[in-house]
Formats: sequence, structure tokens, C-alpha cells
Amino acid sequence: MRSIAILGATGSIGRQTLDEVSRHPDRFRVAALSAHTNREALFEAVRAFRSPAACLTGADLGEIPKDLSFCQFYARDELEKMVRECEADDVLDAIVGIAGLGAAWAARQAGKRLLLAIKETLVTGGRLIMDACGPNEDGPTLLPVDSEHSAIFQCLQAAGPNKVKTIFLTASGGPFRTWSRERIQKATLEEALRHPTWSMGAKITVDSASMFNKALEIIEARWLFDVTPEQIQAVVHPQSIVHSMIGFEDGAVLAQLGVPDMRVPILYAMTYPERLESGVPAPDFAALSSLTFEPGDPERFPALRLAYETLNAGGASCCVLNGANEVAVAAFLKGLIPFGSIYACVEETLNRLGVLPAEEIADIYEADRLARRAARDYLKL
Ligand code: NDP
Ligand code: MG
Repeated sequence: MRSIAILGATGSIGRQTLDEVSRHPDRFRVAALSAHTNREALFEAVRAFRSPAACLTGADLGEIPKDLSFCQFYARDELEKMVRECEADDVLDAIVGIAGLGAAWAARQAGKRLLLAIKETLVTGGRLIMDACGPNEDGPTLLPVDSEHSAIFQCLQAAGPNKVKTIFLTASGGPFRTWSRERIQKATLEEALRHPTWSMGAKITVDSASMFNKALEIIEARWLFDVTPEQIQAVVHPQSIVHSMIGFEDGAVLAQLGVPDMRVPILYAMTYPERLESGVPAPDFAALSSLTFEPGDPERFPALRLAYETLNAGGASCCVLNGANEVAVAAFLKGLIPFGSIYACVEETLNRLGVLPAEEIADIYEADRLARRAARDYLKL
């Protein structure tokens, strides 16, 4: 029996994690839950899973229902305190954006195992978080939940002592895969939110349309698997059945396949190295007409180019990319800027700020603050 803290419990990943907890009540116990503003959904989850701790990070708690007196509620600025104090073995970090960094850091400081869904944590604090996540005698202290990184991690189980030559990170290509650059620039919010294969929260769905999601994942993979940027290749695979692949010196490639359903990588992180029933069927190969692959196009999707440029620039450049993208996506979601301005904003913010230091956590927060300010200036927000 493992106990789990689920941060972002009311979101797409959080709810699917709770689904898996319900599926295996003999294996998992909820130790803590968080939400941002969705107070009623948090109360409901606390009630359903008898969570002994909970935190609402973006609003005041108000009056707590009487039947929830068994739960210790933490105030909006006490997420990290809850992460440190709760009785979780594992902390599943699935809150949006850089907000997940402090919680991930707190989890590791408290010796808890990190199940990482949120890519922004490694994009902003890569080296520092990885340094805090060395393996211990019980195995890894960080397990990826993002489907591509889970796929790579699963393939690595079969790699033995052999070194990986190339990571092939698959991407669906999003709703604008076949669009011209001009048409992408003018895409509407409704068009950006129409993801062809995955059902996810709004921020990551827009990131998938711009392919900033893949850019963040390239950066995430660099840190998780300790490879150079040049060893990572983004491959567009519109059917989202091959979740990623690793290639070896001899030309052999291993892939992990499955239907696009996050419950598989979520549960694998929760039960590694064991596999349990997840509620997800294997792909129906007789019904699959084809699996296709094509190169990512950095001309139409400049995010792909920016991932390599920021990794090679070093310092806090990836954190600046992330901060500017978060500001731009939030503005796009509010209808304040056109889709094409997301790229322009990120590129201009990177140019304006140059390479900032990233020696300690405080540097990361400072780079993020400067990036957000420069991005808001650029977008005139
Ligand atoms: P959602 O938007 O569906 O959910 C986000 C969750 O985080 C909600 O519980 C929300 O609370 C909470 N939250 C939002 N903003 C903040 C904040 N500033 N501080 C603290 N909590 C916050 O997102 P997803 O579940 O889709 O994604 C979560 C993370 O997982 C993202 O980093 C995403 O990139 C990553 N991911 C998601 C995948 C997916 O399939 N959905 C796939 C791979 C990675 P409330 O409900 O109260 O607003
Ligand atoms: Mg992914």
C-alpha cells in the first residue's frame, strides 16, 4: 500500500490519477490533495477519498463543510508546507506551469518520491531538480508521467547497460499539423483547443497546437535522461499510438505503443516496476489503418527550433522561454493576442533578456519574474 499526494487533483491528470486510485483501493491511499480555485471539486474529492490533508492554492477556503472535519486544510500559500508535512510516499505533481516547481522541490527535500506530470518543473529547474532526484536504494526518486517520457523510461527498462544513441520523441503535430505558416499565425482559440488525439487541460492543449508542448518535452527529456539536445529528435506521428522510441548504436529502435490515454503512464509511475490493470485496452491493430511519421517543421513551428537554441544557450534560458510562453498562452486564452504572437513574444523575450544565471532555485524564480515582465511589456498587457 502506497500513499499518494495529488497536486492538481481537480485537473485532467489529477482526476485520472484519482480514477486509478479508485480502481486499486488495496494498493493506494490518498494522503493529500490540492486544487487552485475549484473549491467544490476539491471538497468533493476530499470527501470521496477521505484525504487527511488538502490545500486550495488560488482562493480562500471559506467555510469548510462540517463532514470534512477529518481533513487538515492548508491555506493558499501553504502548498509546500502540506507537501512536506503530509504522509505521502509519492507526490504526483500535476499543477500547471512554474507553480509546480516549488512543490516538486519541497517533495524532494522531504524525501518523497516525485511522479512528475508537469513538464515546466524540469524546463525551469532542470539541473537543480535532477540533482535533488538521485536514485536511492529503493529505486528512482523521480518517475515521469508525461506520456512520451514514460514511453522512453519504459523502453529504457529493456536497454540494459547499452547507451541510448537517439531519443525519438513523438508528437501528434496538433490541430495545425498541415496548416500553412500564415494560417497558423491567425488561428482562433476554438481552433487551437481542438486537439486531434488527446483530451487535456487548456494550457497544454494550446501548447500542443503551437508545438511549444514538444519544445518543453525536448527540454524535459534532456534532463530526465541526461542526453545532449542533439540526441533528441522530434518525430511527428499523427495517430499518437507510438508514444516515443529509443535508438541504439546498432540501428535498432525500441518503441512503446498504446492508445492515447494518460491513465497508462500515470499508473505505471504509481506502480513501477509492476503493471496493473489500468482500464485502458491495447490498441486494436486490425482497426488501425496506418501508423505514419514525418519530420517536425521548425519553419512553421518555431518552438521546435527555440527548444534547441535555449538548451544550447544554457543558464536560465529554458526558464525564460517557459515564463514568456506561459504569459503569452494566458493572454491568448483570454482572447487578448493572436496565436502568432505567442512565438513572437517568446522569441523577443529571449532576445531581450539574454542568458540569465540558474545556479540556485532563487535564480530560477528571478529569471521567471523577469521573463514574465518582459513578455507582458512586449505584449502591452
Ligand atoms: P488542468 O488545467 O486540467 O488542471 C490543472 C490542475 O492544477 C487543476 O487541479 C488546477 O486547479 C491546478 N492549478 C492550475 N493552476 C494552478 C496554479 N497556478 N497553482 C496551483 N495549482 C494550479 O491541467 P492538466 O491536468 O491537463 O495538466 C497538468 C500538468 O500536467 C500540466 O503541467 C501539463 O503540462 C501536464 N500534462 C498533462 C497531460 C494531460 O493529458 N492532461 C499530459 C502530459 C502532461 P483548479 O481546478 O482549481 O483550477
Ligand atoms: Mg506529452
